[in-house]
Amino acid sequence: MSIYQKFGLKQVINASGKMTALGASAVHPEIAEAMGKAAMDYVDISELMAEAGRRIAKATGAEGGCPTLGASAGIAISTAAVIAGTNLVDIERMPHSEGLANEIIIQKGHSVHFGGAVHQMIAIGGGKVVEAGHANQVERAHIEGAITSNTAALLYVKSHHAVQKGMQSFLSMLEIAHANKLPLIVDAAAEEDLHYYIAQGADLVIYSGGKAIEGPTSGLICGKAKYTQACHAQFKGVGRAMKVGKEAIMGLLTALERYENKESTGEEQKRKMNELLQALADVPGVQGRIVQDEAGREIYRAHLTIDPEVAKLTAKELISELESGNPAIYTRNHYSNLGIISIDPRPLLVGQEQIIAQRLQELLK
Ligand SMILES: *Cc1c(COP(=O)(O)O)cnc(C)c1O
Repeated sequence: MSIYQKFGLKQVINASGKMTALGASAVHPEIAEAMGKAAMDYVDISELMAEAGRRIAKATGAEGGCPTLGASAGIAISTAAVIAGTNLVDIERMPHSEGLANEIIIQKGHSVHFGGAVHQMIAIGGGKVVEAGHANQVERAHIEGAITSNTAALLYVKSHHAVQKGMQSFLSMLEIAHANKLPLIVDAAAEEDLHYYIAQGADLVIYSGGKAIEGPTSGLICGKAKYTQACHAQFKGVGRAMKVGKEAIMGLLTALERYENKESTGEEQKRKMNELLQALADVPGVQGRIVQDEAGREIYRAHLTIDPEVAKLTAKELISELESGNPAIYTRNHYSNLGIISIDPRPLLVGQEQIIAQRLQELLK
């Protein structure tokens, strides 16, 4: 019995991905052990924060680093850092930033909702959001025209949530920022590459600890020393309301170590998904195939195309049956309009692909 069932909650099988709504990542035992040990002991927190910063810097190739409660907190803290710097009086009055350069320029197609709104996280850090351009088209002139003496930074959001077409690229935003002596903040919450944006010269880059890095609920900021020092300083201000615990920091650092030595899981993913497809081979109304991630990442999902005539259920009805069962099975449903249900092998715990196959057999027989 899982700890959640012991507390009266339903058992969940996550076949959808790194979903905050389902608890993001189930951490490796080595990470859980580090968190448990950290929770049962004391440490000098300022020493821990400094060491975490050094390790984050090393893992990302940046000059400095700062652990956070999550990527959302990372946006708020980065914003406060570029506005208030290390001035204690300014830090303590955030998010009230009147009189300081406090405008954060973001492309309109990047002002998205990832489960929370990017613009609200900026506001929590004292930033005034300036949306440049149009939802589906932003020209260089829109960004340059939005820059004033009140601009504190430009923010670039790298995410499938953001509009992909018609936006200024990361490199273009970087060039505009630096040509105007402004920092560029990158929200790379779910990105797998911890080095690229830093290597290109981004000033602050934000990652979620619970997504690609597969750590606990946590996050990190990496970047130029001047700015990451200012991020640390915000824990005397707005950062205090988003304090990252010693357990989460040790979990994050352990996850970063594991991430650096991560081996490819592509073959294992394909094996699991092939097993699932074989188990479904004789089930009427389902056509399965293995499909690599749209963004080209090393993720091999099973796409199940449901023929509603034969299955007597549409993909959406099947999804709702799977979610209301016990255990509740959550699939990846970006293509459910097209009659496709996809199964993400990465979050599955040992043997759960078999439970999913059995449940589909029962529902479709
Ligand atoms: C998930 C996500 C966040 C928030 O990350 P948390 O670690 O859950 O706070 C921010 N920005 C983007 C683009 C995201 O995808």
